[in-house]
Amino acid sequence: MHYNKVICVGRNYAAHAAELNNPLPSEPILFMKPATALVPFEEPINVTNLGDSVHYEIELAVLLGKTIKNADAVTASNAIDGIGLALDLTLRDVQQTLKDKGLPWEIAKSFDGSCPISAFVPVDNLNLAKLDFSLEINGQLRQQGHSANMLTPIVELIEYASQHFTLCAGDILITGTPAGVGALQPGDNLKASFMNGLIAVETKVV
Ligand code: ZN
Repeated sequence: MHYNKVICVGRNYAAHAAELNNPLPSEPILFMKPATALVPFEEPINVTNLGDSVHYEIELAVLLGKTIKNADAVTASNAIDGIGLALDLTLRDVQQTLKDKGLPWEIAKSFDGSCPISAFVPVDNLNLAKLDFSLEINGQLRQQGHSANMLTPIVELIEYASQHFTLCAGDILITGTPAGVGALQPGDNLKASFMNGLIAVETKVV
């Protein structure tokens, strides 16, 4: 499938909101990355020109296979084509400066290559409320997430997003990051896993 825009969710796990000293939202916080942000997960992450505050955020990614607008729960659920893993790469220092000024943070989140993405697995045999995933860096567990801990679950996120934008076949929803984010360093090796290796992807920082 040809990938399209990426709809991203901020602060969807309470422990991550707390680690960045952000209040919990009363409804989902959405932002977007353009299709030019997408790169294969395995492509090395080159931080040379991105400054020293490039943060990793491992997230569950949902690929949509249908175009929907104002979807109800059944329509939203039926539009899911597959589940994968994404990194929501973030220039944390740039984002903080923009947040402090009350400005949009797109340039901190939506640059070329800011969304490494794995292949997607079919959703047929998966329970959306029981999806777990993790990120190891240099052999150390840094992030561990479970869809049961999302403040807004996957189907409700799709319903909500579809009230605001038409969601197209090929759009990807990335569903927020659990706690444990941090800065990438050249030489880091990243290993992400979904459902005990149903998806297992690696990349490195150069
Ligand atoms: Zn994120």
